Amino acid sequence: STLFSAIEMAPRDPILGITEAFNADTNPAKVNLGVGVYYDDNGKVPLLECVQRAEAHLIATVTPRTYLPIDGLVAYDKAVQELVFGADSNVIAQKRAITAQAIGGTGALKLGADFLKRFAPDSQVYISDPSWENHRALFESAGFVVNNYPYYDAVTHGVNFAGMLDSLKSMPAGSIVLLHACCHNPTGADLTADQWTQVIEVITTRGLIPFLDMAYQGFGAGIEEDGKVVRRFADAGGPLFVSNSFSKSFSLYGERVGALSIVSADAAESARVLSQLKRVIRTNYSNPPTHGGKVVATVLSTPELRALWESELAAMRVRIKANREQLVDLLKQKAPGHDFDFVKQQCGMFSYSGLTKDQVDQLRNNNSIYAIDTGRICVAALNFSNIGRVVDAICQVL
Ligand code: PLP
Repeated sequence: STLFSAIEMAPRDPILGITEAFNADTNPAKVNLGVGVYYDDNGKVPLLECVQRAEAHLIATVTPRTYLPIDGLVAYDKAVQELVFGADSNVIAQKRAITAQAIGGTGALKLGADFLKRFAPDSQVYISDPSWENHRALFESAGFVVNNYPYYDAVTHGVNFAGMLDSLKSMPAGSIVLLHACCHNPTGADLTADQWTQVIEVITTRGLIPFLDMAYQGFGAGIEEDGKVVRRFADAGGPLFVSNSFSKSFSLYGERVGALSIVSADAAESARVLSQLKRVIRTNYSNPPTHGGKVVATVLSTPELRALWESELAAMRVRIKANREQLVDLLKQKAPGHDFDFVKQQCGMFSYSGLTKDQVDQLRNNNSIYAIDTGRICVAALNFSNIGRVVDAICQVL
């Protein structure tokens, strides 16, 4: 036998598998609600105007493509840190936060995981049940044991907060707790401000290590509002890990722009943390690519472009909310016995619709409407021309 002859086929990615089936479907009225990206009302992934203007500016000011610093573009790291923690943040003033450019939100999570495996090798990781499907695989591939904490309650379509809190209270000190800072993927169910207070309290008093994943800042209640959870954790002191992504909020999926921030006790600790994080980066991909970081840094630090970005992101957020309302209203008219009001309470791009696997199969087989087996739909993929068909099809399978 050779090196490769005994290798088995890896399982297919469940979400990419849906896209493959969707692409192969010849029904012209097919609808893909399984996607993890923002589609506009024409069913297209937008290229934001603020990005186009920043790119035009970058092309006009030609620069050589030297290597970036290991931890990324300085202007990017600074602008991102201010966005994530707030420009007036104490942890920034006290130099207790470090921020490194990363290869998207995924890359930021992987840097954090590799860093933690070096310095907290015996800790275990806890993720929400359910969570973004890559969280488990990513921390396992960094060498951690990954457990679930209770999160979603299918009966109330909300958070099983008592279960979550009990679980936090029983974790050993030093456990790593992954939390979605806003717009929980896949459920759309977020904690209230009061529930966050209790979570922060338990995590701080029990000496757990919080790792906030913020992939949807600006898609919930607003850029500032969504960042509040990060700020509250930062105010509670370190250690704190924050991964953030601009894939969705800048519609820059393929440019792979994200960052990892780490909050520690003081400036001296932060300097040591950064030096070790750079080693993780250096031995992984050496330094990040230039283009996406420059675009985001240009937009965030140029006042007109920043204002434009904020308005374009607000438009995406508002459109998703309108889609939720329209979906619920149409379902109320056509399936009066069923209550979908919870969909309006959910945050971000996704909704756990409550559809069962069997109903999802029927939608796919009978109507060429593709959702995830768990019932997750991307609310942004609904639009003016497909929503009526989607609602009629859902009514047939209820
Ligand atoms: N974290 C969550 C919760 C996500 O939903 C996603 C993307 O879907 C990511 C991280 C990864 O983001 P990126 O595409 O920037 O790697």
